[in-house]
Amino acid sequence: MAEFDVDLFVIGGGSGGVRAARIAAGYGARVMIAEEYRMGGTCVIRGCVPKKLFVIGSHFRHELEDAAGFGWTVPPASFDWPTLIANKDKEIARLEAAYTANVEKSGAQIVKSRAVIEDKHTVRLLENDRKITARYILIATGGAPNHGAAIPGIEHVISSNEAFLLKKLPKRIVIQGGGYIALEFAGIFAGFGSDVTVIYRGDNILRGFDEDVRTHVRAEMEKQGITILTGCTVSKVDRHGDEFTTHLSNGSSIASDQVMFAIGRHPAVANLGLENAGVAINPANGGIAVDHFSKSSVDSIYAIGDVTHRFNLTPVAIREGHAFADTVFGKRTVQVDHANIPTAVFSQPEVGTVGLTETEARAQFSHVDIYKTSFRPIKATMSGRDTRVLMKLVVDGASDRVLGCHIVGEAAAEITQAVAIAVKMKATKADFDATIALHPTAAEELVTMR
Ligand code: NDP
Repeated sequence: MAEFDVDLFVIGGGSGGVRAARIAAGYGARVMIAEEYRMGGTCVIRGCVPKKLFVIGSHFRHELEDAAGFGWTVPPASFDWPTLIANKDKEIARLEAAYTANVEKSGAQIVKSRAVIEDKHTVRLLENDRKITARYILIATGGAPNHGAAIPGIEHVISSNEAFLLKKLPKRIVIQGGGYIALEFAGIFAGFGSDVTVIYRGDNILRGFDEDVRTHVRAEMEKQGITILTGCTVSKVDRHGDEFTTHLSNGSSIASDQVMFAIGRHPAVANLGLENAGVAINPANGGIAVDHFSKSSVDSIYAIGDVTHRFNLTPVAIREGHAFADTVFGKRTVQVDHANIPTAVFSQPEVGTVGLTETEARAQFSHVDIYKTSFRPIKATMSGRDTRVLMKLVVDGASDRVLGCHIVGEAAAEITQAVAIAVKMKATKADFDATIALHPTAAEELVTMR
């Protein structure tokens, strides 16, 4: 009889957990994966995928407006929120089914239950109070939205989770936060026609991004009519029927039909039974503490993705899950390289970035060269839209290596994915210069900046 019921028990059916389960099963491991909600996790069910669908949907407003300059007579367009939600729900259900089918095809067994760790080799399924023993346990429970301090009226505030399920489009929405989710939803709601106010506590949005990016994105969003109030926070929210009054720390107040907070996410470590096995938390970030191979303080327990609060990005969780399975079950030691991870904010205009910001580079290198350009994209010349693209390269003056690339504008994310290969390969500015421009594109600026 086998020593354990399974070789691997994965807690959490999101992108990272699913990848780990499938790869481990492919190596012949007996795998069980528990998910208490819906297979696919944050990214598929209430994150990246529905968000991107919303971004695409809301962007049609700009397309319709821009068409006139090219000779189109666009009939008065109207937008129907329930249609968007219904079609989005259909697509998410399709993806959820595909995730489930792929896991089952791999031979891993899915259990629909919350799982709690009992000891370093045992989990308990709350659904039927069954205990499963496992040689290894992988925690891939992800994260959840922060609500911030318990201000009066916090119960009226929604997070991105609820924003995906709203029954109707708010005519006016107040969004607190100046990071990924706040700006992405600001663009989404504004595109669909809502009047949007962003409340941010610092002096400029997108803290941690390149300073030029921060300034550029803010200016572009304001040009579209999004109000961005900085240096203040929400102190209270009152409800009067279907309307809300958001009171700010600067004494002012705003009326709206919805109030949303997007003020960061926390790792989902609560009520997992971590203390039963002695799994340590990283005091610096509240996530599960892990080594370079995603191993926790307990030899038989690993953790990947947002629950470790390292780089809260789906492709990173997938890479970590895959590396875990290779290392533990594939007899192939694989360590994830977390350097130069490309990332995008799907604000409108979107941001694509890889590598160091100018500030980070100047702190690490003695001689930094900056190449940047801001220009009117070709489409805007005929649409008449008041918009500019930003492109910036951060270069180490000593080695000529491109340390960072920052883009704001249409297709910034798509361009950045490709540029990230060059940055990862340690391309130099001379390599960029030696590449012939592809004309007419926006991206050609990356190889023509002198
Ligand atoms: P972010 O960390 O990106 O932004 C949080 C924002 O809320 C910051 O502007 C922060 O301000 C502010 N904030 C934090 N705490 C408070 C508070 N108590 N009161 C008022 N404001 C506060 O988090 P998000 O929630 O936007 O997203 C969570 C994470 O999910 C992201 O960091 C990213 O890793 C991931 N994500 C990635 C996406 C993508 O790849 N496109 C899309 C969405 C999410 P300050 O800067 O001053 O700290």
